[in-house]
Amino acid sequence: MLSYEQARQIILENIAPAGVEQSELVDAIGRVLVEDVVAPWDMPLWDNSAMDGYAVRSTDCAEVPCKLKVTGYIPAGIRGDGIEVKQGCAVKIMTGAPVPAGADAVVPYEETAETSGEQVAVQAPVTARQHIRYRGEDVRAGQTVIAAGTMVRPPEVSMLASLGLSRVPVFLRPIVAVLSTGDELIEVGRTPGAGEIINSNALALAAAVREAGGIPRVIGIARDNLESHREKLLEGLKADMLVTSAGVSAGDRDLVRVVLEELGVKQIFWKVGIKPGKPTAFGVKDGKPVFSLPGNPVSGLITFEEFVRPALLRMMGQRQVLRPTFCALLREDISNKESDRTILLRIRLEREGETLYASTSGKQQTGLLKTMVNSAAIAVIPPGRGFMAAGEEVDVHFFGSYIDLI
Ligand code: AMP
Ligand code: MG
Repeated sequence: MLSYEQARQIILENIAPAGVEQSELVDAIGRVLVEDVVAPWDMPLWDNSAMDGYAVRSTDCAEVPCKLKVTGYIPAGIRGDGIEVKQGCAVKIMTGAPVPAGADAVVPYEETAETSGEQVAVQAPVTARQHIRYRGEDVRAGQTVIAAGTMVRPPEVSMLASLGLSRVPVFLRPIVAVLSTGDELIEVGRTPGAGEIINSNALALAAAVREAGGIPRVIGIARDNLESHREKLLEGLKADMLVTSAGVSAGDRDLVRVVLEELGVKQIFWKVGIKPGKPTAFGVKDGKPVFSLPGNPVSGLITFEEFVRPALLRMMGQRQVLRPTFCALLREDISNKESDRTILLRIRLEREGETLYASTSGKQQTGLLKTMVNSAAIAVIPPGRGFMAAGEEVDVHFFGSYIDLI
């Protein structure tokens, strides 16, 4: 059986970016730039004032306090052409306004006293170049300011907009078909009768796809017969990625795998040495990834987290496809009966000073969804460790809930 690490490596080796599109800046958030961004112009575009105050010649203010004649006013948004600061003079200026010819410093209001409308007293020492943002000081025209492969965050949006770029090429958000299987399933919205199970996986997996940046397409339920599986799996294979749930465990008739093979999906593996999530299958058709996840809601979410999410992020060109991994100390003893498999433990995290502590967020039976709801991370207990004592170190994958400070 493949190990946890081998399975993830094989998946990532089989994934290529889904494609490229031009995106508006706000929709580019969280997505990856396909090309280097080269500045078309200098930033700032002209020397401008960093403060509200007076543009002066620093040599006029060699000794302070000194008095200067106010000969003009440049508010923000005014070009200021033709305005010049002559010897012994000052021009009132607003933050961001162009620095007039002749001036080489700005004195903030706070360091002046207006003696009359026509005169200003400079009260603090002035050094040449103070409070001026110089042309090109931030960015030079022709310079690469953001490298291809960078994920767009609000600072990148700010930079792109400032450089006049309203659309940028980014990797596509893959469309991910989400298919549930099973005769027992009913859709959410009514109280289940005897033997009925609400199709919560469709919504949970769709939400996980959306959270990772993909576009979920919930395509319904394949019933436990070949015909229904054929129809639904065929529909699912039209998407960029297909994720199915249930019908892959030993007790099932394995319809998912049989029909996927019939439809030309090359099955790469169908078991992984993890707990929960052993009956996880991965296949490819024409480069399209197909994940068959176990039906148990906890196992489905954990295998999505550990295998599907990294694949989805890789399709979106992300360099960093794994969650931040921290080292934490176990709060309690852990015994691992299945010591040939990697145990993915649902845990809570607490920080005490510099140290992170991991404690189980509830009983670890895979049927217990509440333990998943109460967890902030997954602790990875390597195979071969039948027992780990409180105080031992474990790797934890933080998935964005809370770390409690204590
Ligand atoms: P299976 O893999 O088909 O043996 O299903 C394992 C368990 O997951 C069973 O208890 C199913 O009822 C449950 N299950 C299967 N599909 C879903 C689903 N779409 N939503 C919620 N639970 C499910
Ligand atoms: Mg089933």
